[in-house]
Amino acid sequence: MAALVASRLRDIPDFPQPGIVFKDFTPLLADGAAFGTLVSDIAERYRGTVDVLVGIEARGFILAAAVAYELGLGMVPVRKAGKLPGETLKESYALEYGTAEIEVHTDAFEPGQRVLVLDDVLATGGTAEACAQLVERAGASVAAIEVVLELAFLGGRSRLDGHVVNAILTV
Ligand code: AMP
Repeated sequence: MAALVASRLRDIPDFPQPGIVFKDFTPLLADGAAFGTLVSDIAERYRGTVDVLVGIEARGFILAAAVAYELGLGMVPVRKAGKLPGETLKESYALEYGTAEIEVHTDAFEPGQRVLVLDDVLATGGTAEACAQLVERAGASVAAIEVVLELAFLGGRSRLDGHVVNAILTV
């Protein structure tokens, strides 16, 4: 699976700002067979052990919706601040420059639900850490955090101590 992902990811230098190499997985999504294999791979790792999927805006939505459908489960969006219409919980976290905020609906989960969090890239880990805090504040529990790609040199995993973290491809 790692080799397939590696073959369908491309590097876009200096996006969204100089010095950042953006890991673009749109070629993987555009390849129906590869996308299907990815979704099945993730779904089978967690079948029977999770109750609901969380997708982190925006690329996490694509993965979480597909895996949720495959497993016959629901999907909860964690969105950038100001996008969700209902009452929300909010977490702020540091970016390389400035801060970001993400939110989840206060009533998104049933108490104690086991949640699989999905995103495309684990970089510094700030986004995943804030998302895990939101899930727990909302009364659910984080069963695992799954990403397609982990940028290990940024050390994001160390911010997620106590959580199961799985990356399909690590660079
Ligand atoms: P972080 O909070 O630093 O772990 O960043 C993770 C979030 O930013 C994820 O939602 C990713 O989609 C995005 N991201 C961070 N760095 C990159 C990168 N080099 N290429 C693509 N997406 C990235």
